[in-house]
Amino acid sequence: MANFTDNWTSNPKPYKPPVPVGPGVPVVGYQVTATQGVGLPTLDGLPTPEIMAIWEVAGDTWASAPDGAPLVLMRPFMSEEKDKYRWGRRDYLREPGYDVTDSKIREMAAAQREELEKNFWAGKQLAYGKDAPVVVPEGVVGIRFRGGDWEGVPAGEYHVVDLIAEKIDQEQLAPFTLQIEGGHGTFWIKPEVLGGVDESAAEAAAEAGLNRPVPVATIMAAFQAAPQSWAQYLPQDKLLSNGPELHYVTNEQMGAANVVERMPTDDEVRRAAAARDQRYVDGLQDPGVRLGNDILVNAGHQGIGVEYHEALHWFSHTAVRTVLGWHFNEGTTEYFTRKLLAEPGLANTVRRDQDQYRNQIAGVTGLIEHHIVSEAQLAAAYFSGEVGPLFQQFSVHTEDSLSLQAYAANLGRNSGAAQEVLGNLLG
Ligand SMILES: [Zn+2]
Repeated sequence: MANFTDNWTSNPKPYKPPVPVGPGVPVVGYQVTATQGVGLPTLDGLPTPEIMAIWEVAGDTWASAPDGAPLVLMRPFMSEEKDKYRWGRRDYLREPGYDVTDSKIREMAAAQREELEKNFWAGKQLAYGKDAPVVVPEGVVGIRFRGGDWEGVPAGEYHVVDLIAEKIDQEQLAPFTLQIEGGHGTFWIKPEVLGGVDESAAEAAAEAGLNRPVPVATIMAAFQAAPQSWAQYLPQDKLLSNGPELHYVTNEQMGAANVVERMPTDDEVRRAAAARDQRYVDGLQDPGVRLGNDILVNAGHQGIGVEYHEALHWFSHTAVRTVLGWHFNEGTTEYFTRKLLAEPGLANTVRRDQDQYRNQIAGVTGLIEHHIVSEAQLAAAYFSGEVGPLFQQFSVHTEDSLSLQAYAANLGRNSGAAQEVLGNLLG
């Protein structure tokens, strides 16, 4: 069994750079004060990960920076500074063994996909003969034939002109591409996008008359009824005094919010709608998003629990998002959302789409089901930034042979493979 203790590497994709100091150079080091507390950020000669890729790190020793960022004790490797320990931002580092775990999961995923291509997609391919009609739903991106770049394909009726035995993007599931033609032109699209966005939960909610705005008081009451192990992180007064602002918005506002990354102005919505770039189109159908102190809920997606999911984001600590990434953060948010919505008082007020964040939540739930971490530990990490114990627990249970960070990073379309690799190891 591979056992890794050396070769920490810089994380090429920390979630967001911290407050930049100087011309585009992020601060990664913090002074260790006499009391072992964390002082102000310092630049005194500590190399940034862009410059230096290898560190020695005391991975069991964690602290928090003044801005809440998780820190680990580290020292520069192979330099005259090597005897000076410093606190460094953990989100800038990948643990040893990240690459080994990552490639294990990718290999497993490739094998699973090959199986899927043989069975599922081979059958699907037969359905797309020449001239077969296809209906493109809103929110699809494709490549304009002989046009070059990715852009939003206008929704509407098209027909198949050609079936190309190639993928147009690495993430593509189907082993072939459709060339379609319609009133708006000719495009290459990935066949899987024709499934469209599943809106059955929103439709069921509307049918049951549940598609109404949720008052903040209802969200607070739900938080209070949560199990004590994590209700403690949801103080009412915080929500009351300085709580998030809830906005019910249109598809177009959601799309524009995805471009400007805050509540967009009317002008920004008009501009984004005219440009229709990929980020705008990707955002159109988002049911909700939390951007700073604003929670945006798509008005067409009421009654499906978006408000609770986004309010949990608002209460969450940045550590899980920055250190374990988007997928793990969504999986954890959804884990607590579903727990909350299962409370007797709430169960009949929403219709939650069980498919949403399916990959992400399965990966997080897997850690609990394998008894690697407890719900209380997950809550402490998510709400309070105590991610250290998650790493320690994972390392004990996998006998140091898998990287939690790589597992977490693969909870998107490779989630099934990540869980299988973990499951095989635990036996
Ligand atoms: Zn979310």
